[in-house]
Amino acid sequence: MARTNIIFLGMPGSGKGTISSILETKANIIQISTGDIFREEINNKTELGLKVKAIVESGSYVPDDITNKIVENKIIQMQANNQKFILDGFPRTVQQAMFLDQLNFEDYIVVYLDVEKQVVIDRLSQRYFCKVCKKSYNLASFKSKKHPYCENDGELLIQRVDDQPEAVKKRLDIYEKETAPVIDFYRRKNKLLTITQHDNINETIDKILDIIL
Ligand code: AMP
Repeated sequence: MARTNIIFLGMPGSGKGTISSILETKANIIQISTGDIFREEINNKTELGLKVKAIVESGSYVPDDITNKIVENKIIQMQANNQKFILDGFPRTVQQAMFLDQLNFEDYIVVYLDVEKQVVIDRLSQRYFCKVCKKSYNLASFKSKKHPYCENDGELLIQRVDDQPEAVKKRLDIYEKETAPVIDFYRRKNKLLTITQHDNINETIDKILDIIL
């Protein structure tokens, strides 16, 4: 069981989701992905889903008040069950980071996956996922053995609407403007563990496990 919570920072496509799901199984820690939460709401056509659909699909950020409330509720739930968790995709703005501070959320490390922009652009254009089991694949590095179908359940794999080139450009622009300052926010707090793209995924996982177990 993990001893501490984790906040993952990094550009879209830097590997936050993939590493989080591996840690979930290895360290009994739960992944809270705000992107997954929004996609699920959109899929289920809930009131929230309808409200955020156009925003998410265009690559913009959902307003802080909506996102903060969702995360606050999840954290309360996790803490009530004494369950450690990974924040994957939150905080994405300094305002969101300050909101977390207000919740007296102290027990965490911040892992920053530092990957070059061109690498993530290439990765995102080759990313496919299964809408049913959520497994993610990549044509170049992790192609489904049954492509274009999912290895787990045989479902047809799809690309995310926001992985199309225009939305990717917008997401990276917003990342630079809104999310890059969050890295400095945690660096100043001495909370940051930076992992570069040169570290391979197993080494990355081991490094994180060393700290949290
Ligand atoms: P992700 O799966 O993390 O790439 O997130 C997909 C999309 O969900 C983002 O491009 C945003 O539209 C929305 N989203 C996810 N997390 C946040 C957040 N912390 N703040 C605002 N919007 C978010």
